[in-house]
Amino acid sequence: MPILRRIANPALEQPKFMPPATDPGARPRVVIVGGGFGGLYAARRMRNLPVNLVLVDRRNHHLFQPLLYQVATAELNPSDIAAPIRHILRRQLNTEVLLERVMAVDTASNRIILRDGDLSYDFLILATGATHSYFGHNEWVNFAPGLKSIEDALQIRSRVLLAFEKAEHEADPSRRQTWLTFVIVGAGPTGVELAGALAEISRLTLTGDFRRINPASARVVLLEGTDRVLPTYTRELSEAAKRQLAQLGVEVHTGAMVTNIDSEGVTVGTKHLPARTVLWAAGVQASPLAKSLHVPLDRAGRVLVDPDLRVPGLSNVYVVGDLAAVRTDGWSATWPLSERMALTSPVSPPRQFRREFTPPTTSLARFGAKLRFRFDTATRDPWPRSAERLRLHIWAG
Ligand SMILES: Cc1cc2nc3c(=O)[nH]c(=O)nc-3n(C[C@H](O)[C@H](O)[C@H](O)COP(=O)(O)OP(=O)(O)OC[C@H]3O[C@@H](n4cnc5c(N)ncnc54)[C@H](O)[C@@H]3O)c2cc1C
Repeated sequence: MPILRRIANPALEQPKFMPPATDPGARPRVVIVGGGFGGLYAARRMRNLPVNLVLVDRRNHHLFQPLLYQVATAELNPSDIAAPIRHILRRQLNTEVLLERVMAVDTASNRIILRDGDLSYDFLILATGATHSYFGHNEWVNFAPGLKSIEDALQIRSRVLLAFEKAEHEADPSRRQTWLTFVIVGAGPTGVELAGALAEISRLTLTGDFRRINPASARVVLLEGTDRVLPTYTRELSEAAKRQLAQLGVEVHTGAMVTNIDSEGVTVGTKHLPARTVLWAAGVQASPLAKSLHVPLDRAGRVLVDPDLRVPGLSNVYVVGDLAAVRTDGWSATWPLSERMALTSPVSPPRQFRREFTPPTTSLARFGAKLRFRFDTATRDPWPRSAERLRLHIWAG
């Protein structure tokens, strides 16, 4: 029987959903929205549980975002860092994968609203992540792409490589320099990595490839509004990162508030910096799906959840990953990025499901183990050919 119900007008239809209380024989349906780190690993950890899992994603692939900047700088290809969700979960017999965009969640009737249909759930795990925020300046999107998807990475790759080609053809020295100036706005982890990679490309990779320009003369400028790079990390780490960036030849400007971006470059305060390639790594905001829950959100639009990742007041809805702001000490504190991931949360949704649905005879000790994930770039050389050359550790502990 198809799981998806096609409807003409979701608002007028009554849900088909029957909660398990009235149908004790039925396995509960757990719907996971989002096949990123949070959603995928929640699904993996429920692979042996007596539930019917449906993972819904608007894309057919899981994306390893930490390696996006290497696709953007032409060091890796898209297929090195993306894998079909359906393939990843092919051996997971309690799971179906649905390629669909979720438009809203109707918590009153336990349904998610899709582009042309709806799907009922007994339990919902929302893991739709975050997207770029241009702080109200959406007109900057076209001039300064961000880096969140394969499409973004390919667009950045194309802009960067074309800039060198344009510079090679440009006779006017000042116009040539604008093609050879790369500005990255935002010195968080993505901005720092991008700046470093661009510096490496211009100083090492492209050496000898051009006749009229010296790629090593390219300016790589990293702008940060706060007083240091990597502002969410310790001061020691910020200092170390700044030193390494300087060694690579990256110009770092802190306390630099960008007031305008257009096709000619960036304005910082009142000072204009001519540049034909500007990249945005300054802000993120939560997936807009959070709003449809009609629950309190933080300033970045993330759902404020309890430490067990449940949404207060909605006992069958969990939010994980970048979409969640976990209450630790009052609502003011949120967990650092890595700890927001479903994997590393002390009480993750699968553990709740284990309590609620696992027959006592089934041994599921391994679900109690915390899966941890570490991404180690220590062995990365400047020109890795495939993701396998990076050491990726996934272990249970
Ligand atoms: C360039 C870059 C480098 C990074 N480097 C690191 C790093 O080194 N270390 C680290 O810990 N973190 C890093 N991160 C952050 C890390 O990737 C995120 O914290 C993580 O991906 C969040 O996982 P998630 O599951 O919450 O969201 P995502 O991985 O973003 O997944 C969200 C999923 O939801 C789907 N989706 C969204 N909206 C809908 C919808 N309406 N309907 C259906 N599906 C939808 C998307 O298609 C996507 O598959 C990096 C991020 C970027 C962008």
